[in-house]
Amino acid sequence: MPPIARPRGTNDLLPADAPLWEWVLGTHAEVAAGHGYDLVETPLFEATEMYERGTGAGTDVVEKEMFSFTDRGGRALTLRPEGTPGVLRAVLAAHLEQERRPVRVRYAGPMFRYARPQAGRYHEFWQLGLEAIGERSPELDAEVIEVAWRFHERLGVTGVSLQLNTLGELEDRLRYRAALLDHYRPLRDRLCEDCRRRLEVNPLRLLDCKRDAALVAEAPEIGPSLSPESTAFFARVRELLDGAGIPHTLNPRLVRGLDYYAHTTFELWHESLRGAQNAVGGGGRYDGLAEVLGFPPTPATGYALGVERTVALCREQGLGPNPAPAWVAVLGIGAAGNRAAAQVARELRRAGLRALLDAAERRLDRKLAAASRQGARAAVMVGEEEAARGTATWKDLSSGTQRACAVDRLAGELAGVLEGAPVPAGGEG
Ligand code: AMP
Repeated sequence: MPPIARPRGTNDLLPADAPLWEWVLGTHAEVAAGHGYDLVETPLFEATEMYERGTGAGTDVVEKEMFSFTDRGGRALTLRPEGTPGVLRAVLAAHLEQERRPVRVRYAGPMFRYARPQAGRYHEFWQLGLEAIGERSPELDAEVIEVAWRFHERLGVTGVSLQLNTLGELEDRLRYRAALLDHYRPLRDRLCEDCRRRLEVNPLRLLDCKRDAALVAEAPEIGPSLSPESTAFFARVRELLDGAGIPHTLNPRLVRGLDYYAHTTFELWHESLRGAQNAVGGGGRYDGLAEVLGFPPTPATGYALGVERTVALCREQGLGPNPAPAWVAVLGIGAAGNRAAAQVARELRRAGLRALLDAAERRLDRKLAAASRQGARAAVMVGEEEAARGTATWKDLSSGTQRACAVDRLAGELAGVLEGAPVPAGGEG
């Protein structure tokens, strides 16, 4: 019988990669918390209708990529393809926006999309993100972008570019839509099949088309369709970013086809991630989403970043946490020694050291060899006699120096060794 295989498009996180992964998540939590963003967790699955309405029935995600199922009670559910609708639902259902505005929240967790698996694109992947809910201001848009920017700075990732655009208000987009129709209708016969279908439904989405790139390049930009208020809003966002020392590239092709998006929209790109997968993340303002989900109108803004892609960038650039803390192997010899070793390990941990216990029925030389191979900095050996006397022998595994001491002095002596301090001369053993 062949062994069970991991499902297509999924990944395992194994111990060798875990420190980098934890460091990326921890750094984001720290940077976001430093800006006042509190952690929220929402379910991994929600009502399918929430994504149909919230993510948008005309999007690729909803049309082609959702993991949807019916539960035993006949409810239509979907594994979350993105975090925003669920987080907004949770915040508004709990009326948090009535206590303070804006509500600043962050999240991190797995998302599910049935996209064709390829490098950097999975069926299950992690996103981390944040949402600032309850205020419509250029200041908040700039703040959210700044958190994403500072996060990459804190990691030390270089080569990230901020692509920025505005979608204005709904009336601006209706004007823009008309301008796009004027441009594209005479070119109808030259459009790809998808674009022809989308033309009358949602012409903004034509700007995403990779096949019709040449026609996209000639399409009008949104600027002339914006009202003076929308133009001023966007100018203020840019001014705030300039003031924060955050460089950005204007990208008039950065559009989102859904009506609930408004004003600022942005993506973070990385030069080493190629093609359609060069975005590390993106976000923007989504003032109309609350209403689409059946809540009172509530402006909001936020972003989502792909964890796998950020981790890949860190790995490529040799970034990561400080080396793992040194640890001690505690090795019992014989039945009484093994029992005493367990107690010694407990005391070392209580004193703040990392102690791995080996209390199996095995020969000491085997235990020592294994501890050495696995990278222990020191080994503590507890035999029957030592157990009786309340002492232990410890060995510095890099220098080979060995020494006995009372168990209650062990943590103090080992702390020095773990920090790389020289072993004291002489000694009791
Ligand atoms: P989106 O919600 O589509 O704007 O995605 C935000 C970020 O999540 C992207 O820039 C990617 O870094 C990441 N992402 C989206 N879809 C996937 C996927 N299928 N596999 C891996 N990462 C993804």
